[in-house]
Amino acid sequence: MSGGTMSDPCSAVIERTDPAKRRVAAEVRSAVRRILCVFPRYEPSLGSFEYAYDITGGLRAFMPPQGLLVIAASTPPGWQVRFIDENIDPAQPEDFSWADAVFVSGMHVQCHRMIDICRRAHAARKPVVLGGPSVSASPELYPEFDYIHIGEIGDATTELFAMLARDCTRPRAQIRLETRERLPLDRFPIPAYELASLEYYFLGSIQFSSGCPFTCEFCDIPGLYGRVPRMKRPEQIIAELDKLRACGLSTSVYFVDDNFIANRRAVRELIPHLIAWQERHSFPFPFAFEATLNIAKYSDLLANLRDAYFTTIFCGIETPEPEALQQMSKKQNMTMPILEAVDRLNAYGMEVVAGMIIGLDTDSIDTKTRITTFIEQSNIPMLTLNLLQALPRTPLWDRLKREDRLSDDPDRESNVVFKMPYDQTIAIWRACLEHAYDPVRLFRRYDYQIRRTYPHRRQLPPRPGQLTFKNLKRGLTMLFKVCWKLGTLADYRRAFWGYAWPRLKEGRIEEIIATGIIAKHLITFARKACAGELNASHYSSKVR
Ligand code: SF4
Repeated sequence: MSGGTMSDPCSAVIERTDPAKRRVAAEVRSAVRRILCVFPRYEPSLGSFEYAYDITGGLRAFMPPQGLLVIAASTPPGWQVRFIDENIDPAQPEDFSWADAVFVSGMHVQCHRMIDICRRAHAARKPVVLGGPSVSASPELYPEFDYIHIGEIGDATTELFAMLARDCTRPRAQIRLETRERLPLDRFPIPAYELASLEYYFLGSIQFSSGCPFTCEFCDIPGLYGRVPRMKRPEQIIAELDKLRACGLSTSVYFVDDNFIANRRAVRELIPHLIAWQERHSFPFPFAFEATLNIAKYSDLLANLRDAYFTTIFCGIETPEPEALQQMSKKQNMTMPILEAVDRLNAYGMEVVAGMIIGLDTDSIDTKTRITTFIEQSNIPMLTLNLLQALPRTPLWDRLKREDRLSDDPDRESNVVFKMPYDQTIAIWRACLEHAYDPVRLFRRYDYQIRRTYPHRRQLPPRPGQLTFKNLKRGLTMLFKVCWKLGTLADYRRAFWGYAWPRLKEGRIEEIIATGIIAKHLITFARKACAGELNASHYSSKVR
């Protein structure tokens, strides 16, 4: 299948420049290459839901990767592209044999998997290109790759396609290509969703903007993508939604922007288009997004988001302790009391998912109590509780390097030398995780959300064609699996039935299925992590 027929952003960059580069574009178009895009497996994390796939009726992976699908859509016309997400199925030797070149992308947490793909491709004597956030921040981790693509899609991408068009054998030494001129987001092609099997994904993904104006000490987004947000046009987003729908997505859509409200004016322009699209199609997708907590100040924005059916917001709350927020330069979380901000978001029908960090310099023996109290008071059901990890290209990395507090000990859960003793920090993290995902507490917080948050959501009109025999059968099968796994086999079946039985009597089976799926994953993940089987930080690439 060709990924290059939809648009040609590569030549969009070239043709604004000089005649020599236009000649390169002609060369690129005249060659035909077969590109295998391989996305590596994730390590299990709180947000990946993999411990629930056995009861989700066929879902097998979290979200389709935007970056690789945009690259797949950017290949020159005539080039063939095959896309494999190893979270669904591993790439086979015949896939590597088919390809002229292999493209890989991923985050730090996938580092070892990316290197493994590189070795398999080399075994088939194919050149391998690595792009994406991890190599852009830490190219030194990837000496084995033939080409490394640093930065976003842009002039380096054009150069890469030109080089591969000329010669697709493995180069003698690694070639480093670095984007100096980014392709503007409003000229991005529609990701090649048609190459991904969307029916296997827990969520669909879409990107509206890139970059964030804030400078939280631990975060690599401003360093990687800049502080001046760049946006797509509303028409692009609508075209992407149309394509997601046409490609068979039937779950939810997650806006993967690291801070969706990085440019509030642009978001205000976008939302009416989203509302009109949802109304036109009888609200096919609930939307989820990530944004800074100061969004709670903007009632008009929240009302509009509610109307577009934004139902879940991920907020980096990080810590309930103001002194810690001050120290990490996250003052945007302090524009109002955090619990009040969470309440406001709930009042617009949005369930909050919180990112929390343990291992901060300000942590003390009281941190566990403060975090667990916050969990109960906020009634947030799902929180990603990560140990602090210093990422390259962050102010935190620079500070800890100056203070000689970066560790490369592979047996540690984090590369940060904490101020508190290491074992004590791990014990706090474990105690918070055990508390948060104690089944009784977890079902209680979901019960709260269903009673106090969900009624504020936009009431949707009935969707024509939704009540089909196929959907009914799928729903009943999932209900049976949830009741079997959580209500019969699990040791927390009492907690499950305390939540599920009143709902079953009232026929509210969607609530039982949705909460059951998420609870099974969270409880299983927390237990494995506390038992030392999984990493304490989503950002750690420690091998187990
Ligand atoms: S943590 Fe969020 S708000 Fe802070 S710099 Fe990163 S993306 Fe921006």
